[in-house]
Amino acid sequence: MAGERVNLLGLPRAELEAFVATRLGAKPFRARQLMKWIYRRGAADFAAMTDLAQDFRSQLSEVARIAVPEIVAEQVSNDGTRKWMLRMDEVQGIETVYIPEPDRGTLCISSQVGCAMDCSFCSTAQQGFNRNLSVAEIVGQVWLAHRELGEARITNIVFMGMGEPLANYRNVVPAMRTFLDDLGYDLSRRRVTLSTSGLVPQIYKLAEECNVALAVSLHAPNDELRNELVPINRKHPIAELLTACWHYIDMQNGRSVTFEYVMLDGVNDKPEHARQLAKLLKGRPAKLNLIPFNMFPGTRYRRSPAAAILKFRDILNDNGVIATIRRTRGDDIDAACGQLAGRVTDRTLVRLGTKLTPVARAPAEVR
Ligand code: SAH
Repeated sequence: MAGERVNLLGLPRAELEAFVATRLGAKPFRARQLMKWIYRRGAADFAAMTDLAQDFRSQLSEVARIAVPEIVAEQVSNDGTRKWMLRMDEVQGIETVYIPEPDRGTLCISSQVGCAMDCSFCSTAQQGFNRNLSVAEIVGQVWLAHRELGEARITNIVFMGMGEPLANYRNVVPAMRTFLDDLGYDLSRRRVTLSTSGLVPQIYKLAEECNVALAVSLHAPNDELRNELVPINRKHPIAELLTACWHYIDMQNGRSVTFEYVMLDGVNDKPEHARQLAKLLKGRPAKLNLIPFNMFPGTRYRRSPAAAILKFRDILNDNGVIATIRRTRGDDIDAACGQLAGRVTDRTLVRLGTKLTPVARAPAEVR
């Protein structure tokens, strides 16, 4: 019986209203009260919701529950960054990272157990892919961080943890609605960022359905190099990807796409690459975020020297493209970009230890 109770965590407002109406014959304002309890006050127990009638609470607990993931480990970095490992089932674990800064607190969340995109410089890719996270598992990361941190300290949410969020579109979009909802986490669209390796059809879809800030993992200024670093490029090459990005920005009046560019020593960090990039992005609604490569065991890449990164940035800036260098946070606890490994049982069909075409590993087909 317990297994059939609906998990209310992350249900978008309209669905929660429909749920209380059809299952409990309750008015929509009951759903709104529930949301305040769940997200503002962090309640997971109906019994604690004291302004709801006793009857309603006991009826609720028969048909519904609020189930959050379990924290199995926490690590705190010297710089204050925190990383939680969350249990998703008996074997799987994902990671969520909180990055405090003087003027904001950013929560970096995961969208999948592992990842199927197979980017050659990312440690999550080495784990393989297991499954998509549910809406409750995505929202649950924020719920838990809220509980652990106390209120009002999460000012930004970024989908830059494990997984490719646009490959889990079905669950990521409802989760984002709860982040934006004023009875949910009440964040503005600019403070919720979806980062993607470049799933072009889903970028168009997102432009129509849920306009949050967009970050795109570019990492190379030409297709030859990007095919190698970000294999989905073979399916959706740079020109196609950029067209989708400009369309996305057209739909949301005047903001810009943040392009992420990992700095790999001797691979994509030469002055020539910076000039090619400037040609692609000049005059466009684009910002570039240069990410010093973060090491992980078994990688063949090295971080570009600081001087090369500074020079790269200067060439871009001199050529009319805004570029900034991302400060590395939490690398002493393996919480930096691309270091999240979690605990993943790879379920992709073939894993030969060599590069596979992205089509063969497309996450939607692998369940
Ligand atoms: N799947 C999403 C989210 C990935 S993580 C995406 O591809 O955008 C967020 C950023 O960290 C991405 O830009 C990713 O390419 C980058 N990244 C991955 N591995 C990295 C590493 N080892 N060092 C630095 N950045 C890395």
